[in-house]
Amino acid sequence: MAGRPVLNRRLDGHGTTIFAEMSALAVATGAINLGQGFPDTDGPEEIREAAVRALREGRGNQYPPGPGVPELRVAIADHQRRFYGLEFDPDREVLVTAGATEAIAAALLALLEPGDEVIAFEPFYDSYAACIAMAGAVRVPLTLRAPDFRPDLDALRDAVTPRTRLLLLNSPHNPTGMVLTRDELTAIAELAVERDLLVVTDEVYEHLVYDGEHIPLISLPGMRERTVSISSSGKTFSFTGWKVGWVTGGAELVTAVRTAKQYLTFVSSGPFQYAIAEALRLPDGFFGGFRDQLRGKRDLLTAGLADAGLGVHRPQGTYFVTADIAPLGEKDGIAFCRQLPERCGVVAVPNAVFYDDPDAGRSQVRFAFCKREEVLREAVTRLRGR
Ligand SMILES: *Cc1c(COP(=O)(O)O)cnc(C)c1O
Repeated sequence: MAGRPVLNRRLDGHGTTIFAEMSALAVATGAINLGQGFPDTDGPEEIREAAVRALREGRGNQYPPGPGVPELRVAIADHQRRFYGLEFDPDREVLVTAGATEAIAAALLALLEPGDEVIAFEPFYDSYAACIAMAGAVRVPLTLRAPDFRPDLDALRDAVTPRTRLLLLNSPHNPTGMVLTRDELTAIAELAVERDLLVVTDEVYEHLVYDGEHIPLISLPGMRERTVSISSSGKTFSFTGWKVGWVTGGAELVTAVRTAKQYLTFVSSGPFQYAIAEALRLPDGFFGGFRDQLRGKRDLLTAGLADAGLGVHRPQGTYFVTADIAPLGEKDGIAFCRQLPERCGVVAVPNAVFYDDPDAGRSQVRFAFCKREEVLREAVTRLRGR
């Protein structure tokens, strides 16, 4: 073994994440963990019961069908029609995956050749860079800059080269909370058509938009045959541990993604698939109510962070807020986040780890607000006393 590292070169630099370090710090210090983005309250009771029923009735306890159980694929197609007026054939244009994470991996592994360039917004969701690397492709960051984190569409156009194969988009965007507008999406769609690019869209926060609206890129002219839309039940229904995600798109693309997916997990989450089929049919009141509840939490945390002296970038969507520590006289988010649990009993994540260009996000830190209101209030009180 001497001489050669056991981890292959493609994954070099993708070792331990800051989340593990910060969560360990949270445990060691008893701090409130606003670092990792998972809710501290489970989703609807009736959906948990639906999962129990499926288990008891023996639905999904053995390998479910490769593309997902038909009940869920039909429910996903109905959801796309109900919220966006989009039509998908549940048999050919819908694929169930082990969360959005597997969908992203399978899409990139299926669609990319080694050496292909992939343009993605930076700060990146942490699995993007690793999956692009595993596919042997090259990531090309398009930096979203404070204060608004709007994409620079001229820079995007300039970033496209003859080697560009794919745009990897995320809206609503984690960690900045930016939500692409119809005008921005239209410009991106036109560029994709003009330069014959594929697009993978990560839409896991589709139902968590507080200002503006979520518009699937695939709904725009010319995009159906070149877009892989990815979403997940985890964030919408507060069951992040169930790992039920999905892909929708034209049959050719969905078939390609399924080809890679079948050799990753093959299938997953059998009984949970039936429960999520029911969740997707919850009345509009559920979706609007959950969004309004999170909007209130956003307002609580953003006001508290501003009160504590941080610069706040008010998110339009997701359940994260990016804040700037420069007004506190601090420069380095990584050092700040390492000290914060000890100093005041709160854990946050430095945005610098989501950038290739560490200077671009050096003074930004991310807080999650998908927590109980009393937890957020306590965190805000602690931060004020920092
Ligand atoms: C949470 C998250 C995911 C992963 O979703 P899973 O369904 O849990 O795999 C993907 N993309 C973004 C932007 C996320 O925040």
